[in-house]
Amino acid sequence: MRVIFAALAAVLLARPAAAADELPIFDAHIHYSHDAWTMLPPDEAIAVLRKAGLRRALVSSSSDDGTQKLYDAAPDLIVPELRPYRSRGELSTWLHDPTVIQHLEDRLARYKYVGIGEFHVYGADADLPVMRRVVELAKQHGLILHLHGDAEAIDRVFAQDPGAHILWAHSGFDRPERLRAMLSKYKTLSADLAVRSDHASDGKLDPEWRQLFTDFPDRFMLGTDTYTPERWYYVAEHASWSRAWLTDLPRDLAERLAYRNAEALLLGERVPR
Ligand SMILES: [Zn+2]
Repeated sequence: MRVIFAALAAVLLARPAAAADELPIFDAHIHYSHDAWTMLPPDEAIAVLRKAGLRRALVSSSSDDGTQKLYDAAPDLIVPELRPYRSRGELSTWLHDPTVIQHLEDRLARYKYVGIGEFHVYGADADLPVMRRVVELAKQHGLILHLHGDAEAIDRVFAQDPGAHILWAHSGFDRPERLRAMLSKYKTLSADLAVRSDHASDGKLDPEWRQLFTDFPDRFMLGTDTYTPERWYYVAEHASWSRAWLTDLPRDLAERLAYRNAEALLLGERVPR
């Protein structure tokens, strides 16, 4: 296993450096979880991100120590986000585990973050006490919520805090018409395109998605989602694939999707409320 990972790391680092004139990318969906650390030590992980031509990366990890390792290695590149999971297995249990709250409060007191997430929540679970406290913490600390879930969960979080800033992971794996309805309803809802490929193929955009990007130019951003260690292999490939379909958009809109929207949402000033 280690041999395979070492070989993979060698392949990743053998890529040529990003060309100076290529579109910079803010990858808004990177994880560096405990099983990735042994495959790619922090310095090598940073090298992978830089060679992909990333300007910034929104990173959250199970556990958060992974995010801190990357941030220490490259504070100019890494934008930290606090994941509630201390290990991979908590994805389906965290909403029923009150100790998650103490964990989040401890980390928020020690480190700087732009958001809480990515976390998983569906339907009525968004009204469970742990989720309610997460929404309150985001409000108090001026953080975005990176939510992997359905439209009902989004509705319920906005009902708790109409001023919340939500980044909808994977655009909810939802259809363009539902995204249109949700983006129209909530002005502070944004969406990442991680693990989506239905919006473009062969460097051309699907017409319905093109209209959605055109009508909501400030809301979408890119993401790879390194949900397993092997996914690190795709960071550069995903950046290249994204640059290809972005050329099918006017330059200004392409830049917004590539990095400007993420910079505005994640690096802009947001005051605690
Ligand atoms: Zn993810």
